[in-house]
Amino acid sequence: MHTDVLKSGYDNAELIGRDGVAALSPNFGGTLLRPGDAGFNDAATVWNGTVEKQPALIARCVSARDVAAAVRFAAENDVLVAVRGGGHNVAGTATCNGGLMIDLSRMSDVTVDPEAHLACAGGGATWADVDAATQPHGLAAPGGLVSKTGIAGLTLGGGLGWLRRKHGLSCDSLVSVEIVTADGEIRTASEAENPELFWGVRGGGGNFGVVTRFYYRIHPVGPEVMFCFVLYPLEDGRSVLKGWRDFCEHAPDEACSIVLCGTVPGEEPFPAGIHGRQFVALATLYAGPVAEGERVVQPLRELGTPLCDFSGPAPYLEVQSNFDDDYPDGLRYYWKSLYLERFDDDAIDMVVKLTQERPSPLSTVDVWQLGGAMGRVAPDATAFGERSAPWLLGVESNWDDPQADERNRSWTREACARMERFSDGVSYLNFEPDIDVGPPGCDAHRRRLAEIKRRYDPANLFRLNHNILPSASRG
Ligand code: FAD
Repeated sequence: MHTDVLKSGYDNAELIGRDGVAALSPNFGGTLLRPGDAGFNDAATVWNGTVEKQPALIARCVSARDVAAAVRFAAENDVLVAVRGGGHNVAGTATCNGGLMIDLSRMSDVTVDPEAHLACAGGGATWADVDAATQPHGLAAPGGLVSKTGIAGLTLGGGLGWLRRKHGLSCDSLVSVEIVTADGEIRTASEAENPELFWGVRGGGGNFGVVTRFYYRIHPVGPEVMFCFVLYPLEDGRSVLKGWRDFCEHAPDEACSIVLCGTVPGEEPFPAGIHGRQFVALATLYAGPVAEGERVVQPLRELGTPLCDFSGPAPYLEVQSNFDDDYPDGLRYYWKSLYLERFDDDAIDMVVKLTQERPSPLSTVDVWQLGGAMGRVAPDATAFGERSAPWLLGVESNWDDPQADERNRSWTREACARMERFSDGVSYLNFEPDIDVGPPGCDAHRRRLAEIKRRYDPANLFRLNHNILPSASRG
């Protein structure tokens, strides 16, 4: 259903490239790249090394007008479209074979109005770009845990970061977007203008158009925060995870935590004596006064004898890039997730067991603490939908040997299957590699999404995503 196909009018990629350049170049402010052009290969390459695709044409845009022109060309000629924000989606949907990649990576400017607590970021910005602009004012938009990811895919799919319990999902802090819809129109979507479209972009992914600007409400955070990062031996995993669960159940919204279970890398800053040991790491950011944070997270540092403990006050900017090096460009990745309804002793045992059975030492089994501000938003307030789950399991397979692709992928699927009994079976789409998995939700929720799709993208031009089919209910 989602195979990359060359479509009507064209039976080969070369013609798309040739006609695309001819149609777009007279008024295009950015760069048009075809296979063989200098820079094409870099532009076509995405973060996940298992994804190797070659678009017929890359439209590297510098303005909403460029994006609108590219969208119109694709719509008029029924050309497959991939949209690239930060290029970090695990499914590799930012690129495609034989179609048009609309590349926003040059649209990464960020402006901040510190008095109004507002930031405006281009659709190709990363969280590093946003944080660098907002933190000098002691402000932040809720982003993700890795600074190199794009704000676009992450925000449109929800957005889980260190501030989720204090300030909600990334999409909850959106006040409006500038978006190019499938008809090539540049629109604003906010509570006041095109409110249904605004509802849809907050969790509905890239289904409704290309977002060229994100306007965020930004919140006082940092510049220094308390960050707890303590690693315990996996042998003590059972008692450590129980202690962590109890901590989470009583934690204030300021404290936001994730557990990562993996293998200590053989490099700095980890002491040589623990390289290769399996660990349970507790990572917690406290989005409030540092001294208060030190007190609140202290129990997490006393759940056993740590392998090492990097906890302490740190610049928020540093915390935001702490995990960047764990996810290098070009490594092979396959991630899946499951919302957990309970994290009881059986679930804890299973997490420990799955960690022991990982085929790759680079892989981790993670559990995210949810709740707080993100959980208090009504399910029908945004397209993100239901938020009642208290935990999210992430199974992140990361490996480097192409021969081991199938082994790692099937282990990931199997790990999720074995955790399914603690879950309602729903996954977080930003961690979902299979794009045939569409947005979850009740019937009314799905109908609403389909109706917005019908209105703004009736021909399903934007389909390389967790796709919503246009509603057939009306003409
Ligand atoms: P891209 O691959 O560029 O885009 C993904 C999809 O989004 C595209 O296929 C398209 O459908 C759509 N899209 C992209 N740009 C636009 C646009 N401007 N307008 C309309 N549609 C667009 N998620 C979290 O919630 N929290 C985390 O902490 C977190 N950490 C991560 C860490 C790493 C290392 C990685 C790789 C991913 C992480 N994610 C996290 C998942 C992340 O949310 C998704 O991978 C997201 O899709 C990345 O966005 P992107 O813009 O980089 O992706």
